[in-house]
Amino acid sequence: AAKQRGRNNYQVFTQDMNKLVERKLKIETSLRSGLVNNEFELYFQPQNDLNTSEIIGAEVLLRWEHPKLGFIPPDEFIPIAEETGLIVPLGDWVLQESCSQLRKWLDVGLPPIRIAVNISSVQLVGSKLPEKIQQVLQANNIDPKLLCVEMTESVMQNKSETLPILKQIKELGVFISIDDFGTGFSSLNYLKDLPIDELKIDKSFLQDILKDPKEKAIVKSIIDLGNNLALHVIVEGIENEDQVKLLKELNCVIGQGYYFNKPLPKEEFEAAVLISNVCKFTSK
Ligand code: C2E
Ligand code: MG
Ligand code: MG
Ligand code: MG
Repeated sequence: AAKQRGRNNYQVFTQDMNKLVERKLKIETSLRSGLVNNEFELYFQPQNDLNTSEIIGAEVLLRWEHPKLGFIPPDEFIPIAEETGLIVPLGDWVLQESCSQLRKWLDVGLPPIRIAVNISSVQLVGSKLPEKIQQVLQANNIDPKLLCVEMTESVMQNKSETLPILKQIKELGVFISIDDFGTGFSSLNYLKDLPIDELKIDKSFLQDILKDPKEKAIVKSIIDLGNNLALHVIVEGIENEDQVKLLKELNCVIGQGYYFNKPLPKEEFEAAVLISNVCKFTSK
């Protein structure tokens, strides 16, 4: 009987495996057509001044509603896009669309907010990224200071190739942020080699920060590290007011998270910025 069960388990296992492989293949082939068919959309998650709650920027997050499979989270399709190289045209689209949206907002008189675009390390090598960034900024007449590129520590795996490219990007005057800071495995040494402006503390460090003194000590140390290196520090994944209070005590000034806003479609983001501005003026 045990043997029988084992065999059934094995069959269930291979069925599940097949389903996974099938889904992955479907996603892979749909990525290209999805781009052509305009299935992707940009969402904007506000980044807030922790002291005034004012919206000072936004992280651009990609959303994909697949016509048959429904909503597919970026954590599922981005790795597939990276494996297949499709992250390059997809990333180009995100960059262009983000900058042209910012231009529209500036044109209608929205305050100059900074937009942060996620860049995969795959996009960094051999795809003329600095030239593309320069061209997109120019085409949309955007001050480089209003663009931030978020990259993870994984760019350090290929340091000899990525460092010159990062330096070129920095020379454009664009802001560089290290995303998910503290979750990679690179040595801290890179902080002195890389031309970075900002550390973005990963949301996993915030989960138990109110209860776990060790987690609090780690976050405090990262904030101090950033402040001592004259880097901006931003925390992601803020979900409640007590976290905001604690982070302010730890000298952190910028934050992002569901407590303030979830990632929003462009119209809702625009409305949130306008409300945040009205609040700023009325509270003074
Ligand atoms: P990320 O860059 O670290 O983005 C932050 C993620 O945390 C987003 O997930 C966001 O929705 C989520 N988040 C924000 N605030 C909270 C909070 O308070 N609580 C919790 N639990 N989560 C929060 P999302 O949108 O699912 O994106 C996941 C990842 O996919 C991103 O992580 C990024 O690595 C990647 N990604 C998304 N868009 C792009 C893109 O355009 N290009 C590239 N290369 N990667 C992207
Ligand atoms: Mg990010
Ligand atoms: Mg992150
Ligand atoms: Mg991430």
